[in-house]
Amino acid sequence: MVVDRSTRRCLLCGTSFTGRAFVCRPCADRYRQGRIPDEVLRRFYSQVDIEYPEWANTYGNYNPPRALMNWLDRVDRSARILEIGAGGGFLLEELGERGFADLTGSDITVTALAEMSQRAHIFRVVAADAESLPFASGSFDVVISSDVIEHVTRPYQHLAEVQRILAQGGLYLIKTPNRRPAELYYRARDLYDHHIWHPSMFTPGELSSALAATGFSAEYLSVSDLTAAQLRKIPTRPARALAEKFPISRLPVSLHPHLEVVATRLP
Ligand SMILES: [Zn+2]
Repeated sequence: MVVDRSTRRCLLCGTSFTGRAFVCRPCADRYRQGRIPDEVLRRFYSQVDIEYPEWANTYGNYNPPRALMNWLDRVDRSARILEIGAGGGFLLEELGERGFADLTGSDITVTALAEMSQRAHIFRVVAADAESLPFASGSFDVVISSDVIEHVTRPYQHLAEVQRILAQGGLYLIKTPNRRPAELYYRARDLYDHHIWHPSMFTPGELSSALAATGFSAEYLSVSDLTAAQLRKIPTRPARALAEKFPISRLPVSLHPHLEVVATRLP
């Protein structure tokens, strides 16, 4: 598991180092200022899928957006739905089982597209960059992304693209880490490379501002409990047991470990 300390290969340069990070310290420092080149990120994520298949959502549904999935039950089954960064396509598969018929999945990594294509009988598969979507304006009623926006290097451009491809009154359902609790956790675990894999994290206030600036209103859903992927990141068994029972829904949104947001496209 990724958060266990071990001797491992840097996913960018191949050097051996000991720690919990994905890349060695010199590689992490090289990209601390400014935007990380797209080519470097593509190589990084393809290597993640190869070296740490259990980390990404490519080969299993570890970190589902539960509040958003419950919320989706009220949506018309004929809605045209796009999932961006669909990984292995497990969320779309579940939506298909729930009776949604017009489903499209997109991703950027070759490994995810190959895995998703095994479920291409349930939904369309499209190779796409989340910042430049190859769809006509107004072509979807619902767009969903789970643990994607924090990976995007130009989040405003991404949100503007989603706004463009949504129909009037369309919805963008977003699950993403909450920046302040996430940064505390990364610091405590010495994940010094998080600026590489989560370059765009938001507090609820920051996400609301970004959504308002790109033509959306935002509603934050109550997050009921930790997902399996969050629980397994907690280091000791007693702490894990405590976290499992902790009533997160009673905390204010600013303290939730992750955010689940329903953004409505404004006219
Ligand atoms: Zn390195």
